[in-house]
Amino acid sequence: MTADRSHPSRELQTASRLVDTARRFEERIQTANLPVYRASTVLFDSLDEAAATGQATMAGEWHRSTYGTAGTPTTFALMDALAEIEGAGADCRAAIMPSGLAAITVPLLAFLSPGERMLMSDSVYGPARNFAEGMLARMNVETVFFDPAIDPAGLADLITDNTRVLYLESPGSYTFELQDVPALTAVARDRGLISMIDNAWASPVFARPFEWGVDLSLLPLTKYWGGHSDVLMGAVTIRTELWPRLWQAVRQLGICVGGDDAWLILRGMRTADVRMRRHETNALAVARWLQSQPEVERVLHPALPEHPQHELFKRDFSGSSGLFSFELSPRIGRAGVKALCEGRQHFGMGYSWGGFESLIMPANIRRTVQPWEGGTLIRVHIGLEDPGDLIADLEAGFEAMRATAG
Ligand SMILES: *Cc1c(COP(=O)(O)O)cnc(C)c1O
Repeated sequence: MTADRSHPSRELQTASRLVDTARRFEERIQTANLPVYRASTVLFDSLDEAAATGQATMAGEWHRSTYGTAGTPTTFALMDALAEIEGAGADCRAAIMPSGLAAITVPLLAFLSPGERMLMSDSVYGPARNFAEGMLARMNVETVFFDPAIDPAGLADLITDNTRVLYLESPGSYTFELQDVPALTAVARDRGLISMIDNAWASPVFARPFEWGVDLSLLPLTKYWGGHSDVLMGAVTIRTELWPRLWQAVRQLGICVGGDDAWLILRGMRTADVRMRRHETNALAVARWLQSQPEVERVLHPALPEHPQHELFKRDFSGSSGLFSFELSPRIGRAGVKALCEGRQHFGMGYSWGGFESLIMPANIRRTVQPWEGGTLIRVHIGLEDPGDLIADLEAGFEAMRATAG
């Protein structure tokens, strides 16, 4: 800790004492939770200690800190927890980023160079596609989108000598198709690609992506780990042999998060398992009710036996979360969609998901390989409320929608 300045050689003036007082860190009590460190400056007792810490961080010893951007004990604790839980089944480390989107863009910047190619599932989260088509394209990185249902041979055909990254998301955002991740990562490994997956939907409570053979998993902590719609953060968990290159990129770009936000994620994490089990049962109850509505063509939820890849779901996941979509009959036009979304009272209308509250929003689907041809998709996040109340609320929305049909 800091040098002992409790016995200054002369009596200090008030201005100096205001700066100097009450800064000694003595562990007087042990609390159930870690303290929050808020830090830019980190103090050293000697120049030798400063130099040694600097050398250690340059050599990749990420538990040492010369400065707040390199981390504090609060952020290190969260990184350790992620490496252990998201990285289950492999030797991993984890870095944290200021948003889930940054947990997509930073590793892509770290592992792709100009002239290289990435293979990306056509069903990914929209902003991941924006980054590929925007900044990566400008840096002369080519992205080839593929049908999420691609088989291993089809994937192998897309791999060229300059292909570096395979990017997966299972189930896909909005449309909830599953990928045979173990089969696809096996092809990638064989051909020297790094395989990445967005594990937002299932989270480590219901999926263990490193057992599927991925090299890197990203998690928007904003969603289920935070769980309360009050904090933004993302995590990149990665096999230890790939860690130095990721960590260098994080340090060179100045990516870091504050102690207060890291602490909120640590707090959310403690209850993530129980919350997700409630999201799961509530979402299934609402999904079954939606299946019985005449205006609903289909419900896109991998845990329903009607989902075309339900067998894959049972093989790879130990449960399902609160997020799914339903497709309205094509005869429901814009006025009907508007009446449905605005006719409910309790569901919030807004982006994001993973918090305690239920949300509803029409999905905006963008595809490269095959345009989306069905009716309007409505995506819902089912929160922790009473499922009967949620169904009654949706019923009011459906009534409002029926009224527009005249
Ligand atoms: C929300 C989301 C993200 C990004 O998380 P933010 O913290 O909101 O930036 C990434 N992937 C998926 C699938 C998401 O739904």
